[in-house]
Amino acid sequence: MIRGVGASSGIAMGQAFVIPTWEWDFPEKMIDVTDLAYEFERLYDGIRHSKDELELIKQEIKEVVGQEQAYIFDAHLAILEDPIFMNEIQGIIELQYKAAEVAVKEVIDKFVGMFNLIDDEYMKERALDIKDVGNRLLKHLLGDTSTTVPPIDHPYILVAKELTPSQLAHLDPTNVLGLLTILGGTHSHVSIMARAMSVPYVLGLEGKLLRPIQNGDFLIIDGQEGTLYINPDKLTIERYQARKKNWLEFKESLQEIADVAPLTLDKSLVNLHANINSVMEIDQVLRNGASGVGLFRTEYLYMDRDSLPSEEEQFEVYRHAAIQLKGRPIVIRTLDIGGDKKLDYMPLAKEDNPFLGYRAIRISLDRSDLFMTQIRAILRASHFGNVKIMYPMVTSLDEVRQAKSYLERAKLELSALGVPYNANIEVGLTIEVPAAAIIADVLASEVNFMSIGTNDLVQYVLAVDRMNENIAHLYNPYHPAVIRLLKTVIDAGKRAGIPVGVCGEMAGDIRALPIWLGLGIEELSISVQTLLQVKHRLLSSDAATCKSLVDRILLCRTSDEIIELLAQTEQLEQTESIVGGN
Ligand code: PEP
Ligand code: MG
Repeated sequence: MIRGVGASSGIAMGQAFVIPTWEWDFPEKMIDVTDLAYEFERLYDGIRHSKDELELIKQEIKEVVGQEQAYIFDAHLAILEDPIFMNEIQGIIELQYKAAEVAVKEVIDKFVGMFNLIDDEYMKERALDIKDVGNRLLKHLLGDTSTTVPPIDHPYILVAKELTPSQLAHLDPTNVLGLLTILGGTHSHVSIMARAMSVPYVLGLEGKLLRPIQNGDFLIIDGQEGTLYINPDKLTIERYQARKKNWLEFKESLQEIADVAPLTLDKSLVNLHANINSVMEIDQVLRNGASGVGLFRTEYLYMDRDSLPSEEEQFEVYRHAAIQLKGRPIVIRTLDIGGDKKLDYMPLAKEDNPFLGYRAIRISLDRSDLFMTQIRAILRASHFGNVKIMYPMVTSLDEVRQAKSYLERAKLELSALGVPYNANIEVGLTIEVPAAAIIADVLASEVNFMSIGTNDLVQYVLAVDRMNENIAHLYNPYHPAVIRLLKTVIDAGKRAGIPVGVCGEMAGDIRALPIWLGLGIEELSISVQTLLQVKHRLLSSDAATCKSLVDRILLCRTSDEIIELLAQTEQLEQTESIVGGN
């Protein structure tokens, strides 16, 4: 058994599909002048095989997943036909008598190096394409049979050194049993997506594998415990089959409380909303009895495609969501790209600190064309349901005012065209930057609601990159500084008379529930998968007891002290439920 970090709960068992990292190691082989013709033949054979393989993959992907995902392989085929790329390789073989694989490797390295030097995210993506094509060619020249394209005819556990949200968005979710990455963080967007997709995910295996995982290895991953088994024995498989069954039964049993009102024992109401990345999750939102959608991460609508979604396309998605929710609120967060969320077709300049850089509302205010398109689509959808708009990563009052002035402009445009919309649409912002939390009282006067994005707030308060696995142990939502800041924001909302919710992952952390209840939070927005587990605890919690607990927590000096107090409370609840016969 190997212990990593659990990033999305559940148990997955199945064959590994490994995305190779392509670290080639072969000698600098020279050839004889008499072997030139043979070497060219090898090169052309390799190119032909690579092209055949790409055509095949393209076809399969087109049939099973769709045309949009197949376009990337056209770009790869074009590289293999690019005269500059091919002439360079032929020149090295012909003039320097180097073996075909050595020439190919040199040319890939040269082009990748050149593209990487350009300070442009788009060029870096192209560098990745060249690397990928070059590696495919090398693979054929060296007789390697591994593949970079996941199987489409059977399910698998995806194994990779690291994954990006757009890579995950490109996979056919029906075949992904689980995810396993060497690097990564539990608060990364890949982790959040995995939880939303109910896909078990274990990460943080750097230095822990005695040998690399191979395609076809049988794996068990437990996303709750963060454990991994490679080719386990029969007994272990049976044990995990039983555990998986129990886990699924427990989840199923929670369905009984889906329609129960989210009230604590002493009748405090906490709205339990759902976080969604796609409208496809709305069925689940309803099935799990969520009171609405507290965070629709619209950036995923912009991913997994090759151009920006038009106003019409966005309108249709938002309208459909609003109608499906039948009057329940839906908070549509405007585009939040940057950081670890990239759009393949919209390159952003390379930054040393992308999480402190060109992100979220900063991009929207800079690219008013994108922003206006999205705002108009949201406004139009507001006519069809209880739609609210929320701005991400706000830092100052000026930003809120600017964003609101775009909203007013969009309203005027729609009115002029006679297009219906809700003129009183509620406007909110996320509190995820410490500056915003500190001036929450000021910001509260400008909006109808606030939602605390703890994922980013924690990383900025503690200066701990949520993506950096080397310091993952320092990413601690239970740091006293975080808890005090949460209180500042919630109190500011109360004084201003506007609702404050939480939409970061801490909202769905069962351990944290007494903190939210004690601080008097009115709404938690949680991934659909954990919503009922939180509700389960909420129904047997007492808000007044949590309030006294929070008074004690606010006096704690370390996160350990806070975690200890929370653990004691949980134990007490369990004992009481046993004694009470619940
Ligand atoms: C957050 O930061 O808590 C949040 C909800 O936004 P995201 O995770 O999408 O950055
Ligand atoms: Mg955020």
